[in-house]
Amino acid sequence: MIEGSLGLVRGSLKEELVPKELVAELCAAMRGNPPSDQGSPSLESRVQGLLAEVERDSLDSQGYFVRKAMWPGAAPFAVCLTHDVDNIERPPEHVERVKDRFSPSDYARWRRGELSLYDNVEEIARREGRAGFRSSFYYMSAEYPLARARAAARRISRKGWEVGLHGDFGTHDSYPRMREAVERLERGLGIRPRGLREHYLRFDYARSWGVMERAGFDYDSTVGNNDRLGFKLGLAAPFHPPDPRWRPMRLLELPLSLMDTTLWGYLKRGEEGGFADFLRLMGMVRDVGGLFTLLWHQEAVRMRGGRIYWDILDELRGTGAFVGSGAEVAGWWRAREVPLEARGGKLITLGGAPPEGLVVQLKVEAGVRVRRAAGSLRSKREGRRFHEHEVSPSGGAFRLELPGR
Ligand SMILES: [Zn+2]
Repeated sequence: MIEGSLGLVRGSLKEELVPKELVAELCAAMRGNPPSDQGSPSLESRVQGLLAEVERDSLDSQGYFVRKAMWPGAAPFAVCLTHDVDNIERPPEHVERVKDRFSPSDYARWRRGELSLYDNVEEIARREGRAGFRSSFYYMSAEYPLARARAAARRISRKGWEVGLHGDFGTHDSYPRMREAVERLERGLGIRPRGLREHYLRFDYARSWGVMERAGFDYDSTVGNNDRLGFKLGLAAPFHPPDPRWRPMRLLELPLSLMDTTLWGYLKRGEEGGFADFLRLMGMVRDVGGLFTLLWHQEAVRMRGGRIYWDILDELRGTGAFVGSGAEVAGWWRAREVPLEARGGKLITLGGAPPEGLVVQLKVEAGVRVRRAAGSLRSKREGRRFHEHEVSPSGGAFRLELPGR
């Protein structure tokens, strides 16, 4: 897991470089015993902290250090945008009762029948698209008539947004219930869900991942906090959960970093405070170069509080982060798993075709000539002792020839 996450050469991570306590804490987290520090991505930070040591060791013993960058184009971190679709409509009595949550103009348009205050799926997709982003919408299979959601879901899906499952009651620990929900959603929307999040973040560490794996999902994004801010497992990067015999599943988990309702419902933040919390948590993820997974309920974007989502989109445009849907993030992570291999210590190759955007980061002793095939090389930094390069492999014939020792 650590070797894969850091993007190291296959089989290169020496056991003695990984502290036993870190392994024990990671194992405990996978079984539902989170680390003592959940306020920050504490375990992620310790995993990433190993990089410096691994690099030093590799430079000493080989004269070079090479790894795959975490994100496409070596982006500094990633943001996964997701929306649970708990509702798409509410009875008029309810709207009248809570009308103060909405702007007077939206309320007036709703009164005239020009606007649905609770179905914002296409408005969100439109504004995300303008910012250059796409996201995931997780629909429930039995909470509202899917016939009413179908046309919009199919339109956004055709444009590249993800339509996934928001798991109904009972799906998190029962394979038959999960299968029923998947089939209902597929019948109702005409789209087979590949990713999911459980309603109320219900999760059973002994069973949920197994149910999701068996149901054929590519990824889950349920593991996160609802009643407080922070990182439930101390992790902020995708990972393959272990099966009961500690082998990695095919399934990926994209840990949830922040949910909108935590800010308003549990913590009673104002809009400024909520936005500051978003910036603070995203900053922690940027510091570890990880994945920030944001859950913003689609029904909330016209409400007080929820409407800061538009400011969040503006903010993300300036970060240089890789921003995408759950499907895009999971797809990237899986494609990045193409193994980086070292033959005879000096010939670096890939064990398959590199995904679009893959960057191989290389640090070599100054004066060493690097020979490459099938890829471009940019010089990043030329220090006195070491030079740093970024290599973009193209095609399966990629290779780097290094001095070796
Ligand atoms: Zn929900």
